[in-house]
Amino acid sequence: MDMHTSSPDPRYYDALVIGAGFGGLYQLYCLRERLGMSVLVLEAADGVGGTWYWNRYPGARCDSESHGYCYTFSDDLVREWEWSERYPGQPEVLRYLNHVADRFDLRRDIRLDCRVKSARFDEVENLWRVETDAGERYAARFLITAVGCLSSANIPDIPGLDGFKGDWYHTGEWPHQGVDFTAKRVGQIGTGSTGIQAAPVIAADAAHLTVFQRTANYSVPARNGPMDPAIRRQIKERYHEIREAMHLSPNGHPFLISERKAVETDPAEREALYEEAWEKGGLRFRAVFQDLLVDQAANDTASEFLKSKIMATVDDPAVGEILAKIDHPFATKRPPIDTDYFETFNLPNVSLVDLRADPIECILPNGIKTRSREFDLDILVFATGFDAMTGTLLKIEIEGRDGRTLREAWKEGPRTYLGLQVDGFPNLFTVTGPGSPSVLTNMPVAIEQHVEWITDCIAAMRNNGAASIEATADAVSDWVAHVNACADATLMPKAGHSWYLGANVPGKPRVFMPYPGGMHRYREICAQVAANAYEGFVLR
Ligand code: NAP
Repeated sequence: MDMHTSSPDPRYYDALVIGAGFGGLYQLYCLRERLGMSVLVLEAADGVGGTWYWNRYPGARCDSESHGYCYTFSDDLVREWEWSERYPGQPEVLRYLNHVADRFDLRRDIRLDCRVKSARFDEVENLWRVETDAGERYAARFLITAVGCLSSANIPDIPGLDGFKGDWYHTGEWPHQGVDFTAKRVGQIGTGSTGIQAAPVIAADAAHLTVFQRTANYSVPARNGPMDPAIRRQIKERYHEIREAMHLSPNGHPFLISERKAVETDPAEREALYEEAWEKGGLRFRAVFQDLLVDQAANDTASEFLKSKIMATVDDPAVGEILAKIDHPFATKRPPIDTDYFETFNLPNVSLVDLRADPIECILPNGIKTRSREFDLDILVFATGFDAMTGTLLKIEIEGRDGRTLREAWKEGPRTYLGLQVDGFPNLFTVTGPGSPSVLTNMPVAIEQHVEWITDCIAAMRNNGAASIEATADAVSDWVAHVNACADATLMPKAGHSWYLGANVPGKPRVFMPYPGGMHRYREICAQVAANAYEGFVLR
């Protein structure tokens, strides 16, 4: 007998939401305040905040500019909240999300310390039955996952880690009390956005920092600083305009992408525009020309500019060459932004190891052994990223109609309709799921659009007396083909080792996971689907 359906005491809700980060908090607010539904959020951590709860590593800071990295649904919230810097640091974003939880009285419907183990669709009752690690049971008509795209730590399986005598940490599961690097020899593996933020801050305290680089990476200076009061005032006065710009933009950021093409710009002028963009700093560097991600020749101009900046910044040309030996076009992997990353390699207590030339063989009790050397280390920092977009969802045993699991449905890679639903899993919605723009955008913009679409969809179901909604298999196949076609129209698949493709996790199917067709276009497609009586879905 199925224990889940026979349980005498599940607690019933209209909707269950998994995760209390940006997505889960807003989903709770919308369903409760706009539709009057009973909702419970189940959250594994002992606080709200999602990614900003977990990622407390040194230097953790948002790469989106603060005035764009926030909710826009409440004018009062926008007016009240004051960001202190151009880019908010992790503690400030976490404070913001806690403020939102209090401001909208969300905590009473959030259950913390509660990790969802399984979710099974009960076809007879048309309910999702959810069980937590602690054996608690819940049931609801709707199940909405808001588990984040980058929430399942990827710790590489390097032989010997178990026997390491020092301490080791993954950046995405950082201890709340922090880590004292004073007088320690630290080894950092990984030079993605996280590693590039962490290295300068670790180097400031450690006796020695050794950075183990597998794939060299571009980075643009963030140019962070305190928020200028005059700019803050202007932002508040023009907020509706800024919101509109974010909604119309392909990446959800509060800046416009130039209409100019790099390949059609005179080289001297192009260089000057790159210099200007470099001085402004941040993710908006990419916006200087519109053709960087679609034309290899255009991309080469940006890549060469950025590589020359590395060589000019790093004192030792041999170290500069290792850092600038980048094998993929600019921005085909998520482009990091930094504060003094390349400058860090000029410090006497920092060294770089090129793992392409000298790969790690194993971890020793007292350090790391590469093919040709041994490094004595007290602390290891794994800035090695995440089992992105699917990892956390697949850790939950999700079982849809006919006992088919999500793991089976996605054995060859994630397949969704609009990144919102999977055929065979009625009334299950995935906030910023694979197949949606998500990580290619400024996340809060993508999250608000998804949450509002889901809320409107549930409201429409109610109005039409429908009890279930499910994507059709054809709609899923067509959407997967469309996502692939959009990816192939860009240079992005050229970065064969990118986590966008799942390539960073051994054995993970290589499928381009986020939707690269642009947030503005995606928003229109979703609106059109709803206007056409939810075409591609079956409502019953
Ligand atoms: P990541 O981009 O996946 O980078 C992981 C790094 O670890 C890469 O350099 C990777 O090398 C290396 N690595 C992985 N396994 C390895 C192994 N076995 N041996 C040696 N090196 C290994 O992860 P991340 O830096 O944590 O960033 C993930 C995403 O989080 C970002 O792309 C971004 O979307 C988001 N993020 C956002 C912010 C922000 O907004 N503030 C900050 C940080 C991160 P390879 O490249 O060779 O695989």
